[in-house]
This record gives sequence, structure tokens and C-alpha cells, in this order.
Amino acid sequence: MPSSYTAGNEYLTPSRIHADRAAATLDIDWSDGHQTRYDFVTLRWLCPCAFCRGEAGMPGWLDSKPTLTEAQTTLTDLELVGQYAVAPTWADGHHTGYYTFQRLREECPCPEDAARRATTPHAAHRLG
Ligand SMILES: [Zn+2]
Ligand SMILES: [Zn+2]
Repeated sequence: MPSSYTAGNEYLTPSRIHADRAAATLDIDWSDGHQTRYDFVTLRWLCPCAFCRGEAGMPGWLDSKPTLTEAQTTLTDLELVGQYAVAPTWADGHHTGYYTFQRLREECPCPEDAARRATTPHAAHRLG
């Protein structure tokens, strides 16, 4: 039996996205019933943009393990990008990161998903 994670795209389709600025959390309810909660700091560290992550083999800003300021971890706006991603705007003005739903689901910080990542590490091939 395929699990809901592999059966279709339900697990990649948010039914609700809610940023709570007071609690500094981003909640995502998925169509398969799963719930994901990011705190803003965790979310900021996941920024997938070329500046943060680097490109063409060059390390990005986040690779230098910077100390993030409060402005850099305060979400001021969240825009939907088509049907596949959200683009947060941070209080320091950074807004170039498109977080795909796939990435948001794959990096879900809940214990269940943390355990799944631990048993199927996708970084393993880099070690060989
Ligand atoms: Zn970025
Ligand atoms: Zn999860």
C-alpha cells in the first residue's frame, strides 16, 4: 500500500497556509491531512535563493553560518508564487527566496518527518 506521502500530489498541495506574526510561526495544512509548523528562524535558514545558498559551486551567505538578526528572522509578508511556492518577505528586505511546497514538505520539522529523513538521508551520495 502506498502511503499518503507517495500516493499522489496531495502531500504537496497546501489546503491552508497561515503565518502568525505574534507567534513567529508558519503553519501549513496539507491536502493529505498532514500539518507542518515552521518557526520563522528555521524558515529563514531554509531560504533557497542563490544569495543564501550560493550557486555554481560557490557557497552562499547562509553557508558562512551568520548570526541572524531579528529583522532577518521576522516575516513581514508572504506571497503565493503560482501554484507551487511561497515567497516570504523578511524585515531586512530579503525577498528573493521561493520556497516550493515540495521543499516545505520535505523539510517539515515534525518528529515523523525528521525520522523519515534520518532513515533516507538525501545528502548521503555527496559523501561517496
Ligand atoms: Zn535568500
Ligand atoms: Zn511533518
